[in-house]
Amino acid sequence: HIQSSHPTFQAAKVTAWSVNDKSKLVQEVLQMVNDTRRNPYSKVLLTGSATTGLVGDAYNDETQEAIIWTTNLYLGLNRDPEVIKEASISLEKFGTGMGTSAAASGMTSQHLEFEEEFADLVGKPSACLFPTGYTANVGAVAGLLGRNDMVLIDQLCHASIVDGARLCGAKVRTFKHNDAEDLESILQAEVSPYRSILVVLEGVYSMGEGAAPVAKIIKTAKKYNALTLVDEAHSFGFYGKGGAGICAAQGVTEEADFIMTTLSKALGSLGGVVAASKEHIDLLKSSSRAYIFQASISPADMAAALTALRRLRKDDALRQRLWDTTYYMRQKFEDAGYDLGTGDGPIVTPHFENKDKLYAIVQELYKLGIQTSAVTYPIVESGRGRLRLICSAAHTREDVDKTLAALIKAEREVDILLEKQQKDKK
Ligand code: PMP
Repeated sequence: HIQSSHPTFQAAKVTAWSVNDKSKLVQEVLQMVNDTRRNPYSKVLLTGSATTGLVGDAYNDETQEAIIWTTNLYLGLNRDPEVIKEASISLEKFGTGMGTSAAASGMTSQHLEFEEEFADLVGKPSACLFPTGYTANVGAVAGLLGRNDMVLIDQLCHASIVDGARLCGAKVRTFKHNDAEDLESILQAEVSPYRSILVVLEGVYSMGEGAAPVAKIIKTAKKYNALTLVDEAHSFGFYGKGGAGICAAQGVTEEADFIMTTLSKALGSLGGVVAASKEHIDLLKSSSRAYIFQASISPADMAAALTALRRLRKDDALRQRLWDTTYYMRQKFEDAGYDLGTGDGPIVTPHFENKDKLYAIVQELYKLGIQTSAVTYPIVESGRGRLRLICSAAHTREDVDKTLAALIKAEREVDILLEKQQKDKK
């Protein structure tokens, strides 16, 4: 299954990986790195807004005007004039970088304001910033737990959660995706002898599903006195009142001990943040190596995220635009006969029986000015695939119409090509 997917993603999954490995897999990965047919992974934005733009390629001189469906800039705030203005002012005022970690005074007043305002929005007393969402998860999980603890992770949780769990030395177990009963059976069997148990889940998973049953899972965890951490990377900003996220939407802000999100998606910047009780955050800031030994978010990124936070909190119309595009796309694609599975969120994923046909469609779509990506094994059953289209408030209904027309055309062309290949084989 490594053939057409991104080589580094595949390599990252091989746990027994070694740089001196001469295996067939390594050779294949190295060959893939030089394969110019890779899309969207070799693409670079030359100009544009990240929802439409002029796209170049890292390996050749080809360029293409494209509608882009591959970023998680859900609210389009990365191009908001006010956000850009405040980022520029902060750049002038504080310069380009902080030069040290937040723990060693690498914070501007805006870092503090962000922590306070984020905590307030998600309904927690305190919060802690990290330079990325990835290091927020690694830093939180590894900072809170140790060898005598257990981490229980939904099987589809993000790599950063898995890495934090591996790093802390606690026992790591996974429960079946979104399955509170499976979680309960593990908790029943495992509740002693661990000092602490942390259950980690996401509010929305990134492969085209809707909201996860967060309340149900958290309530199950609480029955066994386990702590809970909810990653709201794909839900913060557009679920719940003021965009507070899934915990707020499902009424479990109190019960969720740690609420985490990234600043790189709805907020359009760079960074990660974890909110919790004051005691838990104080502990995290004194124990998390990712917090203490890593430089903090740059002033411009911080100002952008803070301005975006203030904006999304009060601007329901922005969320409405995202949902309008989402529902419009879902309706149009279903009317055209595409199976979108059970999802209802902004990540729209038409299902395909045959991953190779899907990869060909992704290439064909790119030529038609539509940049998308494909999701394959192990996220979906081996051999199958899903086209992934991530909606944002910056996309328009016209973008959706153009994309659907292109998909129908691309699929027709790929079908003809595959039929011809079959004939030639015979
Ligand atoms: N958690 C989840 C669920 C994610 O999808 C991502 C990014 N894809 C991260 C954490 C990491 O966030 P960032 O890319 O901002 O570091």
